[in-house]
Amino acid sequence: MIAELSAAISGAKGILDLSRGVAALTTEHAVQERTIELQSQVLALVTQLVDIQLRIADLVHENADIRRELADFVDWRRDVVPKYDLVELAKSVYAYQLRDLPSDVEGVPEPKHYLCYGCFQKRRKSVLQFSGYNNMGAILTCNECGVSLIDHSDKPPSFGPVTVRRKPSPWDNY
Ligand SMILES: [Zn+2]
Repeated sequence: MIAELSAAISGAKGILDLSRGVAALTTEHAVQERTIELQSQVLALVTQLVDIQLRIADLVHENADIRRELADFVDWRRDVVPKYDLVELAKSVYAYQLRDLPSDVEGVPEPKHYLCYGCFQKRRKSVLQFSGYNNMGAILTCNECGVSLIDHSDKPPSFGPVTVRRKPSPWDNY
């Protein structure tokens, strides 16, 4: 950008220098040649200025994107990160768990839940959904990225030994 501006300024100075000498030209042919040279340099300068204008428009958009991303980042760090703790649900299986916060901090208390670790790193708040049990624990799934993990601290419910009740039979004592 600085280089393009320097080139444009240099081009404008060249045009100024060329135009200063026009009054001293004595023949019509020399004036025509100088005019053609000036038109060529003005055209080059206009092209450079259009390129600079387009580059400035790109920079304005980039700046707006960066400002929006920074504001999102600040909001995330202020509003979401302090409410969650990183917990290990199983060996090397991590999720973010909602902290126990006083109910008056946020107004409406949220139910206990976990957020997906991968989505959390991308500043996406995706609550892991319970989708059943296997023999190791509760299966939690992220609907945003599709990852499934197992919470080993949440074991499948145990039904205990099955007891069958029936009427006494005269054959029970045989
Ligand atoms: Zn996810």
